[in-house]
Amino acid sequence: MTVEAAQPRVEVRARPRDPHSEPLALALDLGASRIRAAVVTPAGGLLARHARPTPLGAGPAAVLAACLASLEQARAALPPTDRARLIAVGVSAPGPLDSATGRLLEPPNLGPAFLDLPLAAPLAEALGLPVTVARDTTVAALAEGAFGAARGVADYIYLTVSSGIGGAVVSDGRLLRGVEGLAGELGHVSVELDGPPCGCGGRGHLEALASGLAIARAAGARDARRVADAELAGDPAASAVMERARRAFAAALVGFVDIFAPRLIVVGGSLAREQGERWLGPAREAIAREAFRTAASRVELVPARLGDDVGLIGAAVVLDLTGRPERAHATTS
Ligand SMILES: [Zn+2]
Repeated sequence: MTVEAAQPRVEVRARPRDPHSEPLALALDLGASRIRAAVVTPAGGLLARHARPTPLGAGPAAVLAACLASLEQARAALPPTDRARLIAVGVSAPGPLDSATGRLLEPPNLGPAFLDLPLAAPLAEALGLPVTVARDTTVAALAEGAFGAARGVADYIYLTVSSGIGGAVVSDGRLLRGVEGLAGELGHVSVELDGPPCGCGGRGHLEALASGLAIARAAGARDARRVADAELAGDPAASAVMERARRAFAAALVGFVDIFAPRLIVVGGSLAREQGERWLGPAREAIAREAFRTAASRVELVPARLGDDVGLIGAAVVLDLTGRPERAHATTS
């Protein structure tokens, strides 16, 4: 299983195809709280979609079994004649991971039990289909590029702000991959040298200050939504935590604008979605105030468009179902 240079090239112009013979794929989105599965079409349409909670506490074997059950359920929901059109499985999973072998590496938001967990091989064997595993934020970035907010844009950054913070960088129509595809951990940039410890082992990282888990931890609350609600209700302690998170996010974005000179920054994830302009506004102001003037004047900061299904929709791009000429590629077992 290798994902080579994923090249989210701009216009998706699907070749004219008979919708009854076009290839289909199984898509799986493994998240820390939910496992989603569906059948995805070349146009990013989803069939037979469903979700179940991730049995994280029950360990890797239980999580793997839940992934397999979800995929089998999606496949079983197709009429038998359509099942033959399934050509592959695309899995979106938390990074960092090794796409070449389809293994998780050290995902901070799943926990140490998931270190080096093979995902592709057991799923490929059980399903009899090739499996490609890609980092969740990469999948989301490619999906937004093909079907969402970054459609037609060659230079963009995707960021997700939810329980963790992740991202991906697309430059000149190509995903920035780095050594072994490890580039793009945008949540792990340092924004406060003596800041709180990060799940990755570092300190003062963006994720340690502005993610949902970090906000909840800093405020001693069960989740970030409660802190956000408390801020709206006028609680000064909650307001301070939220304000610090927004400032950390804004500071990181100023750096990203200067380093990558994107045309667009697309921000997804539940926390960013719930916060809306309260979250994006201060970042936009900081970019205008602090980034290099020309780069700042060229960039737009916008919410993601594809919502929670982004990890499923993106499988169409990762697996090259869209029929675009140059792209990502996956070989598999
Ligand atoms: Zn970190």
